[in-house]
Amino acid sequence: LPVHMPPATSPPATPHRQKWSDGVMERPKYLVTGGAGFIGSHLVDALLARGEPVVVLDDLSTGRMENLAGARGQDNFKFVHGSVLDASLVDELVRDCDSVMHLAAAVGVKLIVEQPLNSFTINTKGTETVIGSAHRYGRRVILASTSEIYGKNSSGPLSETSDRILGSPSIPRWSYSTAKAVDEILAELYRREYGLRSTIVRFFNTVGPRQSPAYGMVIPRFARQAVRGEPLTVYGTGEQSRCFLHVADVVEALLSLIDLPDAVGETFNIGSDEEISILDLAERIIACAESTSSVNRLSYSEAYGPGFEDMERRVPDTTKLRAFTGWQPHRNLDDVLADAVADARSEVSRQVLGLVA
Ligand code: UDP
Repeated sequence: LPVHMPPATSPPATPHRQKWSDGVMERPKYLVTGGAGFIGSHLVDALLARGEPVVVLDDLSTGRMENLAGARGQDNFKFVHGSVLDASLVDELVRDCDSVMHLAAAVGVKLIVEQPLNSFTINTKGTETVIGSAHRYGRRVILASTSEIYGKNSSGPLSETSDRILGSPSIPRWSYSTAKAVDEILAELYRREYGLRSTIVRFFNTVGPRQSPAYGMVIPRFARQAVRGEPLTVYGTGEQSRCFLHVADVVEALLSLIDLPDAVGETFNIGSDEEISILDLAERIIACAESTSSVNRLSYSEAYGPGFEDMERRVPDTTKLRAFTGWQPHRNLDDVLADAVADARSEVSRQVLGLVA
């Protein structure tokens, strides 16, 4: 049975008013780490639209201030430029909020493979810091995890209790899966031993506006290649499959879990069950963009360097999320692709005008 120890310090009884640089706001209800990133910034927009005070901590390593263009200047919003590795800063921010949404992480297969040590450190030590402070002040925490947890398990719809099947630890790709598993284990052990109120969310492939193509994510890459009329770079046979969920549906899932008492101590897959092979995806994007691009097949070693392993198939079972929250996605793959192509068009035209790098 879990042992429920009281947190070391009780939360303040009443919210205090605090002067923030961006205005005067109540004590921030939510701390969103990684809030300038792709999923984080959409979550911040949704929380602010609900009238919730939000503080973002982001080191802007992959996050961008322009993702927070709608949030900046709002009285309910504050941005803090800093790292989740900065323990005293994290401690102060966790103390001053009610709930933590821990989304800060090094993500993207390309980034993980190119910067494995830095990624591993951020993804383990950063989370340990956040969890330690959440325990200290008795804060609820939602931890972002990943479908990479399941590794090469290609057995069909993956439920939260499905097996982890990983390759050798010497293959850089699996260091990300391992780091996130360490995070999940830490959260679970703090929950069992100290009563930490944690919920783990495993994001499957997520897509939408603001997703950078720089770190490997296939849809923003294909969409930009199609819009520019360049060949689409399909890695491996292209028969490997994924399911892509629109970020707006991911945010709806997060909002449905954020204050749900029953979600404490639980782990949830968040993803789409509409499966598509990467080769079919390339063709759908070319059609959606009305592009003349061709498809260029590259080997994994050409794409990522030697010793790379991919997942053949990755399909989530979201029965648990639906049962707990009533969540269901509102956008299908056509909506996802239309949005990705529109986002790519606007970025490519801003590049042509010299407005972005
Ligand atoms: N992929 C591809 N071309 C690219 C980028 C990715 O064929 O330019 C493939 C990649 O090998 C994988 C799938 O698309 O099989 C999804 O890759 P992504 O990095 O988006 O996410 P993953 O599911 O691998 O984390």
